[in-house]
Amino acid sequence: MPNCFIDYYKTSGRHQLQAILFDVDGTIASGKRPLPHAAELIELLKKDKFPFFLLTNDSCNSPEIKSKGLRDIGIQIQPEDIVSCAHTLKNFIREKGWQNLNFFVNGSLGNPSYADLAEIKWSDNPEHIRTADAIIFGEGEYEWKFRLETIFNTLIAKPHVPCIVPNPDSYWPLSNGKGELGIGAGAQARFIFQLLREKGIEPTVFYLGKPYPTIYNYTAKILKKLVGPTLDIGKIAMIGDSLSSDIKGGNAVGMHTILVLSGITAKNQLENISPEMTPKQVFDSL
Ligand SMILES: [Mg+2]
Repeated sequence: MPNCFIDYYKTSGRHQLQAILFDVDGTIASGKRPLPHAAELIELLKKDKFPFFLLTNDSCNSPEIKSKGLRDIGIQIQPEDIVSCAHTLKNFIREKGWQNLNFFVNGSLGNPSYADLAEIKWSDNPEHIRTADAIIFGEGEYEWKFRLETIFNTLIAKPHVPCIVPNPDSYWPLSNGKGELGIGAGAQARFIFQLLREKGIEPTVFYLGKPYPTIYNYTAKILKKLVGPTLDIGKIAMIGDSLSSDIKGGNAVGMHTILVLSGITAKNQLENISPEMTPKQVFDSL
């Protein structure tokens, strides 16, 4: 019989944990297919009024679009249940005191744009790259060569211009049904950073999404408002299918990490893994 998280939640999890954070792809759904028990578990959490969020490194699809995609396959997620790596932009920029900078957004941060949500002055017009005070690496369809070359040359001339990468992912599954991968925003950014390092320049880079702590700390702050001062970060479960993203990132901030084997990680990969990637619990699926 498969070992499922929902059975643990029903017996002891709902008493031992204070909140749950879910990865989406490979955990809740796989492309347009709901994963086992996801719909039932979300329904149960809503009935229990148990705090939870879906954490996504998608900085290009709005929570409205993303949640609709999940509702279309029977998982009752609402926009407010989703935290994107790009939601953290506003806080991050305020903490840095960069509210008055002019930002260039490479590609897109969605429509409506997360850059507007962050209340910053921004442009995605490549004519503004050379005059920008900071660069945000967005996603979506855009002509790469000219923009990436202009960013590269701008950073050679002005190496201290900060680069913000909401989505650090190297690649993501294309929905073409062939199991192929798309090149992610993180990989596009690192391509430029590698070229700069070859020129002896160390860029100033800030990653916001999983496995970096910004998105986890941002979500923990929201949870603290919901749960109150008794919130213990060790009682926030981070459930996901990726050791190097969900588990490593959750462990780094002291969350209770749970691996599900319904996505990219197979059981035999758990042998000889380093402590920072070791989950506290493992289930076959939700
Ligand atoms: Mg995943």
